[in-house]
Amino acid sequence: MLKDLDLKYVLPTYARQDIAFVKGENATLTDSEGKEYIDFMAGIAVISVGHGNEKLSKALCEQIHKIVHISNLYLIEPQVQAAKAIVEASGYDMQCFFGNSGAEANEGAIKIARKFGEVDGEMKRYKIITLEHSFHGRTITTVKATGQESMHNYFGPFPDGFVYAKDIDEIESLLDDHTVAVMIELVQGEGGVQPLEREKVHALAKLLKERNILLIVDEVQTGIYRTGEFLASNLYDIEPDIITLAKGLGGGVPIGVVMTSLKDVLGAGDHGSTFGGNYLSSTAAKTVLEILHEYKESGALDEVFLYFENALEALHVRYPKLFLESVGFGMMRGLRVKDGDTLAKIIENAKQEGVMVLRAGKNTLRLLPPLTITKGEIDEGFSRLNRAIASL
Ligand SMILES: *Cc1c(COP(=O)(O)O)cnc(C)c1O
Repeated sequence: MLKDLDLKYVLPTYARQDIAFVKGENATLTDSEGKEYIDFMAGIAVISVGHGNEKLSKALCEQIHKIVHISNLYLIEPQVQAAKAIVEASGYDMQCFFGNSGAEANEGAIKIARKFGEVDGEMKRYKIITLEHSFHGRTITTVKATGQESMHNYFGPFPDGFVYAKDIDEIESLLDDHTVAVMIELVQGEGGVQPLEREKVHALAKLLKERNILLIVDEVQTGIYRTGEFLASNLYDIEPDIITLAKGLGGGVPIGVVMTSLKDVLGAGDHGSTFGGNYLSSTAAKTVLEILHEYKESGALDEVFLYFENALEALHVRYPKLFLESVGFGMMRGLRVKDGDTLAKIIENAKQEGVMVLRAGKNTLRLLPPLTITKGEIDEGFSRLNRAIASL
């Protein structure tokens, strides 16, 4: 049995479901028993262009037959093309560094900020302020950057210099002469699909600019059209100094990016990655960006977003006692459920009915479908979710 082998050979760091998927087509998955599921989680916002995307698999197969990996010591054509596509889509005057994950992208962001904070003489700026309920990754540094006390239980000593603001309003009072950066998610993902208020973000961006403190936006989850624009930073209409990307960028192939307007801070030898942006992952990124650029330009993406939103609102208003509020943008959505136990039951029932959904924070039902989900799949997913709730 697969489950027994998993228990025997794989470290138990995940509370795994006893389901193994064998095939996927866009937002429809089939497990090893032949049961079909509608995918409203997209591998936690990773499967941006759907499972088994034809254009992506073709581009990857062609690339694999040629070259998968050489080294960042040489020019890599698809990496340059991916960087160009990312920078152009963002509208910012930035350059990219390629790694392999969201945590690694955030490590890069922290390194850029820390080096920026190096000043000849006595005072070094090193403090980075993050928000409570944030999530920035699982490495020793990014777990410390994450504003959740429960994640700082073991693994110490941690790197110094992370300060947590209880909300965006508290950030200003925490700035001091040693502060070099503020790192935020514009919509907290793991923390419960919690968007920051636009006016407050604008005020913060202005304040930081005046004080020469960097604004780092962690777009690992919000990036790649998830909120409706290429970046949530575009949606909020701000100009961060550093942005990190990962999840949806490779369509399932591991990749992470830190992009910044501070083009001169890191020099040769300051940072690196063996695998980062190799032929395989950067071909994935550039192809995903081509697919989604076309999809957005044609108006199809906005249309499907609206369709999804309407279906979600219909569910929301059908159960006014169950759902406290509807939150999020684009295809990064949540319904706040009256309590965590009820949410656990909804998720369990949804699994039985054949629709995959996520929990976020204490009591948020989180929906992150593939951006290419069809209207038919949306209808089917919501009718299954409705059955899951009706049978509570
Ligand atoms: C998922 C996530 C990360 C971590 O990404 P990994 O690829 O798992 O390292 C960091 N920040 C945010 C906002 C995320 O959602």
